[in-house]
This record gives sequence, structure tokens and C-alpha cells, in this order.
Amino acid sequence: MKKSFVFLLSVCMLFSFSLYPKEEKEDPLLIEVEPAQLTEHKKEAFAWLDSHMKELAEINDKIAGFAEVAMEEYQSSELLALYLEENGFEVTRGVAGMPTAFVAVYGSGEPAIGILAEYDALPGLSQQPVPYKKPVEEGKPGHGCGHNVFGTASTAAAVAMKEVMAKNSLPGTLKLFGCPAEETVVGKVFMARDGVFDGLSCCVQWHPSSVNDVPLDSSNALNQFEVEWFGKTAHAAGDPWHGRSALDGVELTNVGLNYLREHLKPTARIHYVIEQGGGVPNVVPDYAKAWYYVRDIDRESVEKDYKRVLKIIEAAAMMTETTYKIHLISGVHEMLTNRTGNEIVYSNLLLVGGPKFTEEEQEFAKAIQENLGMEEKGLKTKVEPFRLPERSWGGGSTDVAEVSWLTPTTTLGVAFKPTGTPGHHWSSVACGQMSIGHKAMLTAAKVMAGSGLDFLDHPEMIKKMREEWMKAKKGKEYKSPLPPDLKPPVKPKKSEQ
Ligand SMILES: [Zn+2]
Repeated sequence: MKKSFVFLLSVCMLFSFSLYPKEEKEDPLLIEVEPAQLTEHKKEAFAWLDSHMKELAEINDKIAGFAEVAMEEYQSSELLALYLEENGFEVTRGVAGMPTAFVAVYGSGEPAIGILAEYDALPGLSQQPVPYKKPVEEGKPGHGCGHNVFGTASTAAAVAMKEVMAKNSLPGTLKLFGCPAEETVVGKVFMARDGVFDGLSCCVQWHPSSVNDVPLDSSNALNQFEVEWFGKTAHAAGDPWHGRSALDGVELTNVGLNYLREHLKPTARIHYVIEQGGGVPNVVPDYAKAWYYVRDIDRESVEKDYKRVLKIIEAAAMMTETTYKIHLISGVHEMLTNRTGNEIVYSNLLLVGGPKFTEEEQEFAKAIQENLGMEEKGLKTKVEPFRLPERSWGGGSTDVAEVSWLTPTTTLGVAFKPTGTPGHHWSSVACGQMSIGHKAMLTAAKVMAGSGLDFLDHPEMIKKMREEWMKAKKGKEYKSPLPPDLKPPVKPKKSEQ
């Protein structure tokens, strides 16, 4: 019996091998897209960008040099706002109560196309344009997420589009949004709450990346908040019974949260840091502070999780006889991806192609990878396939999600850092302020201007994007996660501090 079964099995296997010898498994997630047309309008925009590379690269490097962190982007935002003004845009500074947020407008009427720009740096990542760790100034900020390249490329795309609109008397409105404090997930949330993005037909944006692609993944919704705890101090050995520990409030909250995890959906993510936990062990701490992120697949789930977290905080206060204050810093939605719009962006990415890096630039990237003990793969120049995401939920969160609930919003990634290198890292700061960053900037600007011009020239594309967007919203209207009276965490200019 056994022998004949094995025989039968091997015959079957033989059969199956001979029947399907070399057939490759098709990728069910792959979407075939043709390159976009190189229209006269695009030729004009690309030519404008090519001929203005020198000044655009200077802006890129100046913002890299300013390296201003969230809400301190006074010089960076002013540089971009001025450039837009000099190029025929009308600029409103200080929108949504944030001095470093601005809107630059050109033209009038429909369609109204938005472009997002970011320009905040990250603390502690100061770095020179060399392939090994070497800060300009130890401990100072640096553009570890490439937002200097981000802001410059978006501004460049806006001006290039405006040139074409002006030359050909094209109808429509172009709005460049100067969005501060992305790294703290703050800027666009306040701008969205205050109606800054209202009235757009659609919006384009991008992010510097290690690949050239148009990802269709969503991102997680989030609430981030701080909890301050107030207790009573006492000698920790002499009369601890007179004390009420604020740190105990933090610790019991965290114990409760870690037990809660088991009873949340697997998509939930909770993480925290204790910012202040007291001074010395022999004094019962009367003050403590912790900072929390609660994320989940969508806004409703975050709100449900958040309510349960609030109960735990309240219970910890009861247990410890302490009091607390919750400060909601920010909250975002999950990203509504728009396949129709992204397909147009992808077709323009195919038209433009990935950045053409030289041998020298590849060597620079490989030197970084060698220094990080990674495989020396260099920089990506090819365009990745356009694919549906493998899973519907994302890990990180972004305030671009707020815009995606107010208008169909597209995305784009362009390689500006070596393959596999970590994000928020000195290697990104290094690449972003040299020819590698400049090429990524030019590529992103061309793809966004090309896509924007397609939207201007083909109103039916916008109509289709908006139909998909309406369906994706499932009848829900945008409701800001922020209370109406919450003020943005504005920081004064360094000279005024
Ligand atoms: Zn970023």
C-alpha cells in the first residue's frame, strides 16, 4: 500500500512538473501602468526646472544648513515663501496660528490644485555631506528625513506649473502649502482643523525615500498626548506614608496599558516614554510626566482605544491618590489612498524615470553602506513596480492623512538615500545636501509638476479621483481630532527667546 502510494505521488509530481515546467507565478498585486505622455506643457515645465537647477539647489542646501526643528522653521519657511512671492505667488504667512505655516496662491477658479511642502529638521542629527558620521556641530539638528529636499522640490514643482499656466493662460488655482512641524505630527492637523485645505480639487505631495515608487499603503491613525502627574513629596524612608508618588501614577498607568494590550485588536500600537520621573530615590516624587502614542488602523479604533486608556489613567490616580492632567498634543486619521490619482503620478514617474546618479554618487552611497556594515547596493535609479499593498494597515502615522480626508491626495517617493539605510539618520542628512539630494529634488519636482499639469489639462481625471475618494470616505465627513480651542505649540523666534 505504502509503496504504491509513494509511486503514485511521484508520478503525480512528475506530471505536474512536466505540465507546468517554467510558468512563472503572476503577481496578483501588480498593476500595469503605461508611462504618461510628454505633452508640450510638461516639456515647458521640465525645461523651466532644468534651467533653474542652480538656484533650486541653493535653496535646498540653505534649508539643510538652517536645520530648524518643528515650529522653529522661521528661516526655512521664509526662504520658500519669498521665492514663491518673487515668482508671482501671493503668500499668506502665519496661517492656522503658526508663524512658520504659509499658503502661496497663484491663479483663480477651478480646478484648485494643492501641493504640500515640509521643511522641519530633526534634533541631534547635524551632519556634513560626507559618507561617514561627522556633525557640523555636535548635538545640533539635521535634515534626517530629507525635508529640505521635500520643501524645495514641492516649491519648484509649484513655480514650474505656474510658469506653464501663465504662458498658456491656463485656468485654475495653484496652492503651495508651507506645512511646519511634520516630525511632531502637528502642522497639517491644525491647518486642516482651521480650514486651510478647504476648497481643493486634489492635492499632490511626495517624500524623499530610498526607492522610486508610488506606494498605495495607508498609515495608522494616532492620538499623542502627555500626562502630568501631581503627588505629595515626603522623605522616602523617614515618613513615606505622608507621600503620594506621582511616579507611581505613571508606573501603574503603564502596567495597566501593558495588560490592556492583550485585549486590543492586533492592529493597535501603544508606546510611551517617561519624560520626568522624579529627582532622587530618597524623595517621593511629587511630579512626573509621560508621553504616549496610541495608534490603530483607523480613527474610530484609535478613539475606542483612547477611551480605554483614559480609564486606566483615572484608575491609576485612584490607586495612588494622585491627580493628573492630560494634554492632547495631536491626533491624525489613517491615510485615504487614492489609486486613480496615484496611477497618474506613477505614469509620470515612469515618464521622468528615477534619478540618474553618477558612478561617483553611487560610490558615495556605497561608502555609507560600508560604514554602516550593510550590503553595498548604492542608490536606486530604477522605478519600482506599482503594486497594491500586501496589508491594508500601516505602521507609522502622518499628518498628510488629514489632507487626504479633505481632498484626494496623491503620493510619491524618490530615492535620495542609499538602499537599506535607516530613516531619521545622519546618512540622509549627508545625501540631502549634495548632488544626490539635488537629483532627487529635480525628479520629484518634475513628476509632481507633470502630474499636476495632467490634472489641469484633464478635468475628467480629477472627477474620477473625487469619485473614488467619495467612496473611500464611506459617507464620513472630516472631523478634526483636535478640540476647537487647542492652540498649536508655537515656539518663538530664537532672537526673541
Ligand atoms: Zn519625513
